[in-house]
Amino acid sequence: MSRNILISIVVPCFNEEEVLPLTHAHLRSVLENIPYDTEIVYVDDGSRDKTGEMLEAMHAEDERVKVLRLSRNYGHQIAVTAGLDAAQGDAVVLIDADLQDPPEVILEMIERWRDGYDVAYGQRIDREGETAFKLWTAKLFYRLINRLSNIQIPLDTGDFRLMDRKVVDGLCLMREQDRFIRGMVTWTGFRQTAVPYHRASRAAGETKYPFSKMLRFAIDAIISFSTVPLRLATAVGFIASAFALVVMGYSLLAVVLQLPLEPGWASLLISVSFIGGCQLICLGIIGEYVGRIYREAKRRPLYLLRTRLGLSSPRSADDSNEGRE
Ligand code: UDP
Ligand code: MG
Repeated sequence: MSRNILISIVVPCFNEEEVLPLTHAHLRSVLENIPYDTEIVYVDDGSRDKTGEMLEAMHAEDERVKVLRLSRNYGHQIAVTAGLDAAQGDAVVLIDADLQDPPEVILEMIERWRDGYDVAYGQRIDREGETAFKLWTAKLFYRLINRLSNIQIPLDTGDFRLMDRKVVDGLCLMREQDRFIRGMVTWTGFRQTAVPYHRASRAAGETKYPFSKMLRFAIDAIISFSTVPLRLATAVGFIASAFALVVMGYSLLAVVLQLPLEPGWASLLISVSFIGGCQLICLGIIGEYVGRIYREAKRRPLYLLRTRLGLSSPRSADDSNEGRE
């Protein structure tokens, strides 16, 4: 007899005690309408509140609930990775714990999957309860990354999506430290389609992505998917040198033609600081890449587990560089 089809739902949670009961109830009601076997893989990303204990209680009460507890807070993208490594499903859905992504949309994603698509990603039509600043920066970010990198990440998507086993296996093979999951999913190729939805505001609790984390995330995304900034450094260097040549040419001409030429320290100062600035920018850009090479060279596991409830060891094809207890 063939194995039943299994759908996994991966939910990263960091300090989500306020919203978790709500999310769980909501998810469970949606699961009732899924005509396949289901499991929910909650990943506790080193929460400092009651989230971990709540998840363990949920596991004790419902065997479909699987729980991973990471040894500390690793960040959203790594938490998602841990969940993907552990999920057993033939299709895996990623969803945030704060109900900003409506769980009902999962049903539509499953429809697309049955139609033969390998990835069904949620695409936000609008976003309630976000500041104008966040909306504007998010928009800028997607435009920028699509310009700079050679893969096209669909606009206005988050990590809310369904992926076929093929895609998840592909992601599990990608062990890079600086992870930008939606970009990596685009990279895998296969057949991808959008499922439009309205993004609600957080059901409870506060955003775990302050501006500094968002900026870090954007830099990670750009650097891991593009070497354009490195080339930018070269371009800035050329422009600076060209500027210096022009100034030199002018000074020579001025001497020959006896034009008035201030023996000025101002021009000297300007050009020195300009060149200095360019060099520092270039060094900074190269530094970002060197830092990444350094992090990869250490070959550390992406995360360490504290507890694993209801899950066997990872199913992924290559577990040589896997997180281990
Ligand atoms: N999250 C996580 N680790 C972190 C930060 C966030 O696992 O270090 C989880 C969080 O619990 C939520 C999801 O990632 O389920 C998205 O976070 P959040 O809602 O704070 O981000 P936003 O929607 O504001 O971008
Ligand atoms: Mg959120």
